[in-house]
Amino acid sequence: MQKDNRDNKVRRVVIAGGGTAGWMVAAGLSKTLGKLLDIRLVESDEIGTVGVGEATIPTLMNFHHLLDINEQEFMAATQATFKLGISFENWRDVKQDYIHSFGLTGTDHWTAGFQHFWMKGRERGLAGDYGDYCLELKAAQANKFAHLPRNGMNYAYHLDASAYARYLRKFSERFGVKRIEGKIVEVSQHAGSGDIRSIRLDSGAEIEGDLFIDCTGFRALLIGQAMGVEYEDWSHWLFCDSAVAVQTPSTGPAIPLTRSIARDSGWQWRIPLQSRVGNGIVFSSRYMDDERAVGTLLANIDGEPLTKPRVIKFTPGQRRKVWNGNCVAIGLASGFLEPIESTSIHLIQRGIVRLMQMFPSDGICQSDIDEYNKQANAEIEHIRDFIILHYHVTNRQDSAFWRDCCSMAIPASLQHRIDLFRETGRVFRVPNELFAENSWIQVMLGQGVMPRRHHQSADLMGDAELSHFLGNISSAIDKTVVQLPLHQEYVDKYCRAP
Ligand code: FAD
Repeated sequence: MQKDNRDNKVRRVVIAGGGTAGWMVAAGLSKTLGKLLDIRLVESDEIGTVGVGEATIPTLMNFHHLLDINEQEFMAATQATFKLGISFENWRDVKQDYIHSFGLTGTDHWTAGFQHFWMKGRERGLAGDYGDYCLELKAAQANKFAHLPRNGMNYAYHLDASAYARYLRKFSERFGVKRIEGKIVEVSQHAGSGDIRSIRLDSGAEIEGDLFIDCTGFRALLIGQAMGVEYEDWSHWLFCDSAVAVQTPSTGPAIPLTRSIARDSGWQWRIPLQSRVGNGIVFSSRYMDDERAVGTLLANIDGEPLTKPRVIKFTPGQRRKVWNGNCVAIGLASGFLEPIESTSIHLIQRGIVRLMQMFPSDGICQSDIDEYNKQANAEIEHIRDFIILHYHVTNRQDSAFWRDCCSMAIPASLQHRIDLFRETGRVFRVPNELFAENSWIQVMLGQGVMPRRHHQSADLMGDAELSHFLGNISSAIDKTVVQLPLHQEYVDKYCRAP
């Protein structure tokens, strides 16, 4: 049945939770619709935030453009460095590494992607590594970075999550968001509709609203605990359900890459910021206990830890409906896959943009809710497939974890992509999918899927023409990379002189 509250205008927005999600929502809503809304954000210093989530992807730039954020000011405030991709170490096999970089590789022909010409070149002994044809990847390997004019480099950031929330708090308060400190102890719902009427804090204060944004993290106090919206568990595909995080001081220049180092029952991250490094291990509790994970992490960090190792538990999956009644869940309350491709902050931002596009100023209607949920589900499912790919396609057989990842049944949508690429070298991006062809190809090749065939367009090129075509691309990249400054030097100059 269609639920339609057209006479029920939305003016009072209550954001429950002030982690990265809560403050990103507050910033996005207050900057765009702030003049029309009364926005309050409730957070509890005592409960705190998850405190991780420090690697991003280039789409964050869109969010910052929307907010008119000054990059130098933001980077200085969040100890940020630049990120050109992820270095996957030991994933395909122990001691075999590859980079999933941002940007494009080579130049496509309208009939066939660049990979077909590269495969032909390899067959004839004329081509280098696939990564030789990607500027961002070569710059990352050389540990270099600069903003380039015109088409530039595609980049993202490593940032301090707590500092980012503080930065966005200041931003949001300037645009009228009212912050309320306190612990939410009760959620009152309207009889009948089940919509949320108010939240009560430990101080006794009652906060009413028309629309509630649940940013309470894994607790999902509103959408999960109060409204009972179920969670779809994907741990049969994504085995990792635990993490340990620890910070260390910087012991050398920051590199423009997130490092993802596969371990025997999961993987370890290293995220270089200006003054420290974020480290963590993501693992499956079915194959490794917390104690062994802490031991593995501490044995593989540089320098003395600045913080105590912190264990975080999660269930990979998604909320069946992220918008239910008058409550929209954004951030960890809406679901979490795992951090391997740094997609969670991206999903927060997508949730905010979608909410602004469908903002129910004139009342909440079921068709908006359905559309929002449909888009959110499709988006996370594409990302889920891309993440499963990293675990499933590997030569590693050295532990039960990797053997089980290899032999598990995977979603049919992913199996089709792998089969298509393996048989034909073709990849097609699905509309509204986050990861484009370049990402799929880099990761599939990196994990060891080599196509059996290539498109015939590439056969039409003679040796000289093909060699010239490939050589032109790689030499232009090499010339650019040689002239770039070292990443750390660039960051030092750029971020310390806003
Ligand atoms: P939280 O940070 O947990 O915030 C919840 C908020 O709700 C807090 O302010 C808390 O005080 C408040 N709250 C909760 N209960 C109450 C209550 N009763 N009363 C009042 N307030 C309450 N994402 C990326 O994009 N890149 C990464 O590299 C990345 N790495 C990750 C690594 C790990 C191990 C994990 C677990 C996640 C990672 N993520 C990453 C995800 C990222 O951390 C989150 O998406 C992001 O931090 C947003 O979290 P949140 O704001 O939803 O939740």
